[in-house]
Amino acid sequence: MVGFSLLLTRRIFLKFSFASLLGQIPGWDYGNESGPTHWAELSADYHTCGDGQRQSPVDLDITQARDAAVSFDYHPIAIDLLNNGRTLQQTGNNSCTLTLDNKIYQLLQFHIHTPSEHTHGGTHYPMELHLVHRHPSTGALAVVGVWLKPGKEQPEFAILNKHLPQQPGEQIANSTVINPGNLLPNNHSLVRYSGSLTTPPCSEGVTWLVLTTPIEASAQQLDTFHNLLGDNARPLQRFGG
Ligand SMILES: [Zn+2]
Repeated sequence: MVGFSLLLTRRIFLKFSFASLLGQIPGWDYGNESGPTHWAELSADYHTCGDGQRQSPVDLDITQARDAAVSFDYHPIAIDLLNNGRTLQQTGNNSCTLTLDNKIYQLLQFHIHTPSEHTHGGTHYPMELHLVHRHPSTGALAVVGVWLKPGKEQPEFAILNKHLPQQPGEQIANSTVINPGNLLPNNHSLVRYSGSLTTPPCSEGVTWLVLTTPIEASAQQLDTFHNLLGDNARPLQRFGG
């Protein structure tokens, strides 16, 4: 009985910290009642999720892929790991950068969707990584998408797996050092398009750079992330309104 009470207390505490984390933002999720088809109804701030004209994710024609007009300056960084109840997010310092159109964007964070959000030919991959970059003075966002397919073990994820925050609201600060550069395929051929955030407020004007060569992770690693996160992919959007 004592054990049960302790368990209950701990769960309430976690629920409370999750709510605090969300602050005043109305709750959204990937379920039925507050899920993607209802995001625009949850807050006036989310109207773009319903009436936007260039919403993401979309199905991509990878025959349109081009050699990367981007260069990555990625190196090992110490990261914080946060389970925010919707995704697993890694935040480090801003020293990793991406150069696009002669402008330097800073890597703010990266996070995970299971299954993939972008597709090609309607096919999902089991997982998609989003590396979110921001231009320091204009605030413009450039997000790099990396698909993952089953294969050999992914070394950076093997490191992350040792430090996974299991509960929503749980953050592990300064958990480990990883190199985001090892999460990119060797081939930087990509599809570029102007779309949106795939989560509320679904803001547009986001430059998407989706790499068309997937990287590999073991089936066990992919299962671990899916078991932790559940389905957290926004459905495909009709492009161009
Ligand atoms: Zn994302």
